[in-house]
Amino acid sequence: MICIVCREAYTTQSLTSIQFERDEFRAMVKKIPAQVCPACGESYLEEGIAEELLKRVQDIMAEGEMDVVLEYR
Ligand SMILES: [Zn+2]
Repeated sequence: MICIVCREAYTTQSLTSIQFERDEFRAMVKKIPAQVCPACGESYLEEGIAEELLKRVQDIMAEGEMDVVLEYR
């Protein structure tokens, strides 16, 4: 699809990293499959993946971890 942020390029299937932050809590999730814009770097997650990620991060937060790095699988 065409990038809706810069409208200058078509996104390509790639892997991206996302950082979640809430107060003291930080989670970096790596290797998430996404559509990435080669021009501006914006990444677009599929809806199912975004939901699953949020759930996993919330579980980690509930366990009391403050700073985690994980890989999406
Ligand atoms: Zn773009």
